[in-house]
Amino acid sequence: MALLRPAILVVSDTAASDPSTDKAIPTLSDVLAQDGAGKWTDPLTAIVKDDVLEIQRAVRSWTDTENDSTVNLVITTGGTGFARRDFTPEAIAPLLHRQAPGIVHAMLAASFQVTPFAMMARPVAGVRNKSIVITLPGSPKGAKENLQAVVKLLPHACFQAAGEDSRAAHSGGLKKLEREAGVDSSSSAGNGAPLPGGASTDNNSHSHSHSHSHQHDHSHSHDHDHSHSHGHGHRIPKAHTTLEERPHLQSNDPRLGASKRYRSSPYPMLSVAEAVSVILENTPCPKVEVRDLSPDLVGYVVAEDIYAKEAVPAYRASLVDGYAVIVGDKRGADVVPVANAQSVSGTGTKGTFPVASVSHAQATSLPPPLQPGQIARITTGAPLPENANAVVMVEDTVIATLSPDGLEESTVEILTDKIVPGENIREPGSDVQLNDLVLVKGTQLTALGGEIGVLAACGTRKVPVYRKPRVGVLSTGDEVTDITHPGPLTGGMIRDSNRPALLSVLRGWGLCEEVVDLHVARDTPASELELKLRDAFRLRGVDVVVTTGGVSMGELDLLKPTIERALGGTVHFGRVSMKPGKPTTFASVEIKNGDLGSGTAGTAGAATPASSEPNGDSRRRHLIFGLPGNPASALVTANLFLLPCLQKLVGIPSPTGLPRVVVRAAGKLRCDPARTEYHRAVVSDDGHGRLVARSTGMQRSSRVGSVASANALLVMPSREGFVEEGAECEALMMGLVRGF
Ligand code: AMP
Ligand code: MG
Repeated sequence: MALLRPAILVVSDTAASDPSTDKAIPTLSDVLAQDGAGKWTDPLTAIVKDDVLEIQRAVRSWTDTENDSTVNLVITTGGTGFARRDFTPEAIAPLLHRQAPGIVHAMLAASFQVTPFAMMARPVAGVRNKSIVITLPGSPKGAKENLQAVVKLLPHACFQAAGEDSRAAHSGGLKKLEREAGVDSSSSAGNGAPLPGGASTDNNSHSHSHSHSHQHDHSHSHDHDHSHSHGHGHRIPKAHTTLEERPHLQSNDPRLGASKRYRSSPYPMLSVAEAVSVILENTPCPKVEVRDLSPDLVGYVVAEDIYAKEAVPAYRASLVDGYAVIVGDKRGADVVPVANAQSVSGTGTKGTFPVASVSHAQATSLPPPLQPGQIARITTGAPLPENANAVVMVEDTVIATLSPDGLEESTVEILTDKIVPGENIREPGSDVQLNDLVLVKGTQLTALGGEIGVLAACGTRKVPVYRKPRVGVLSTGDEVTDITHPGPLTGGMIRDSNRPALLSVLRGWGLCEEVVDLHVARDTPASELELKLRDAFRLRGVDVVVTTGGVSMGELDLLKPTIERALGGTVHFGRVSMKPGKPTTFASVEIKNGDLGSGTAGTAGAATPASSEPNGDSRRRHLIFGLPGNPASALVTANLFLLPCLQKLVGIPSPTGLPRVVVRAAGKLRCDPARTEYHRAVVSDDGHGRLVARSTGMQRSSRVGSVASANALLVMPSREGFVEEGAECEALMMGLVRGF
């Protein structure tokens, strides 16, 4: 039989800062080696702080791998008590796909044999993917006793969790399993199950009195088909059904009553940064399309390097208003005077000259060449006579004589002889040369105009850009009432503020080909959400649906079950460690082009699962952002999660979401000890070019007014206490900095 892979996770602030203080790893490794009947490989080990996210990250690195590196048993030690930094059960419980109360019971029962302080442990145990996870106390002695209480039976549980056929495993009957595990339920004292601390027969006498209640319980609650003596020493509860044989007591099926549904979120809690990287990993790369250059291209990203089709300028143009002249090509005393014979200076252009022609900026013709000694009046941007090589600006000249009608100059005196060849001329291609690289692939065409301007200038007419997504906004909830409802509101009605707010955010970003109003999906009938999502994807061609509401744990919180059960989609995350916005959900649904299956509401597997097969009928990945219903939460999470997704979808090479700046707090702001808080604030210039942030007031997630006039989210670190007035703080800018 293949060896099982264990992993030990030490959860301890102390050991994390100084691993040499840890004694748990050697102690527990010894238990596996000595009491593990040779069934375990050497354990993988890690040490983390008492921090929910760190614990979860470490466990998931062992349990969430697809390949052979999956760990069969994860043992945590530490953080199971009542101290303020004891978080391990809170970190592990949401990771467990199936609970194992029997293992918890066995460990607690073992500890109670030793001390009534066993009451102070809060262990959890269960199955995540194919791994068993158990939480041991932090003291090496307690951890050892607990592990010894269960270690003999764990291999069987691990093999089953890893997918071993349970019938084959049971073919020899319970007796065989017990023999293999080195325990025997039918034997009398002296041959009993292992005791805490490795005790066996010798300990039975003093543990006798404690065993009565167990014996009593067992005789009532178990209906065994084989005889048990329940002698002293039978301290390991034995399950008589396999996990597969038991009804799955917890489900995400919204049709089941409250007693059958999840009572705590089964979705692991991600940090905001982790959630963003999950979003970006699952956001498809954009397709390329060719569009006519126009101001409508604002927000698009160019999909190829763009080269100039034309030089700018296309001809030799004057930079100033003045007179085109021919200057000798040598400087100083050698400059050949171009002035007429009466010119006196002899060193340059100084002198009086007849004005032979006038060149305006116009499109139809070039001015005639100059005769020696002539000059030509020229306006800014106009083409030079082909043999002129400099322009004297009008400020360096005076009119000498007027034309007979007195309207034009006939001769002009040039006051300087310092004009050099090329002066005040834009040579052809001196702004942009033909075939110059003008925009690199990945450049966004902004509303500031520079990018669209340069493309227009150098003859670009068609631009390869990445397609922009179509994004739909759908509110959910029976209480949600359209803003056009004349009022007054009755019962539990609430104005649908999320939909217009999100539609306007999306329009403001300019990253969508179309922003689609999908209206409201009522909670009853429950199929309405499914139908609205199907229609959005199939009929309205929407790439991303943004919903609000319906992502908490109530019986009307239908989004996750609808995605998983009815649409065959994948929920990539369902909880994020942030405030507001904890239940934010992100999912994807893969659909055959233009079809989302024809299943009826509530039918599991109606949609065809994702396929990477290149079988012709291409599938398209659609994304769903399930934002919380509370209006401030919806807007904050849209900024943090939806924006980077759309940035990737439109082809921005490294999507980073909102820009970050450092600001100073204008007042004292309270931090949340458990979650990073995104405090809505107005960031403005303090009059000396420094940025200060003023809170928008009460930050309750239902208060959409906390976002009104806010241009920034202050990233408040999760800790006790305050960000003090004047302290530096990171701000995510949603809008432009206000002026003083
Ligand atoms: P839910 O997660 O659906 O329970 O929603 C959480 C809270 O947000 C409830 O108080 C809802 O009434 C409120 N809410 C849900 N949708 C909207 C909406 N579209 N506009 C304003 N508030 C909403
Ligand atoms: Mg709701």
